[in-house]
Amino acid sequence: MNTLVIATHNPGKLAEFSRLLAPLGYESLSAGALGLPEPAETGRDFASNARLKAQAAARASGLCALADDSGLGVAALNGQPGIYSSRYAGDDYPGAFAKIIAAARAKENWAAWFTCALCLARPDGATATYIGEADGRIAPEPRGEAGFGYDPLFIPNGYERSYAEMGAQKEAISHRARAFAQLRAVLASGAGLASPLISNF
Ligand code: IMP
Repeated sequence: MNTLVIATHNPGKLAEFSRLLAPLGYESLSAGALGLPEPAETGRDFASNARLKAQAAARASGLCALADDSGLGVAALNGQPGIYSSRYAGDDYPGAFAKIIAAARAKENWAAWFTCALCLARPDGATATYIGEADGRIAPEPRGEAGFGYDPLFIPNGYERSYAEMGAQKEAISHRARAFAQLRAVLASGAGLASPLISNF
């Protein structure tokens, strides 16, 4: 088994990555379990935040690391909370859901999108970054119990169920799955983490 440090302290993200990586022969170790500090997310976009988290974890652990920076854009909030999605909710997701639903209702615009930037970093500093997006709409009320974060609020285009009502199906179609599909090709190649493809940023 190859080992990848997942540069997250978010148990929801760790669980999704563990399930995606195991079939490729990669074991996931969380940055939290290794006691690695969480770097400040000072980037101005998803890709730069993913890169700074992955490079910090790879440098501190001496292992290859994978980081995710992701969030929800809401048309009625001019694309916010975006890279500030985690801070926007804090520890009150129901409160964030209520604010987003009120804004969508006021503007009569329910459009929303999730973005995921994935960055793979080697301890030598080389990185590769992949972006996945999913367009959809805000649910008129939170729905479903599965998943994490804004999952109950987001209905992807082409579906009637929220991410939180989908369970495992979310992991096949989500913004994260779309970014991961690009990474999978690198990990599944014979060279894997030694691949020269890991220099695309
Ligand atoms: P990050 O850890 O700074 O990337 O924060 C991302 C935040 O965006 C998470 O804490 C969630 O609030 C939200 N988020 C990202 N991806 C998802 C998802 O797949 N489902 C629900 N919420 C998500």
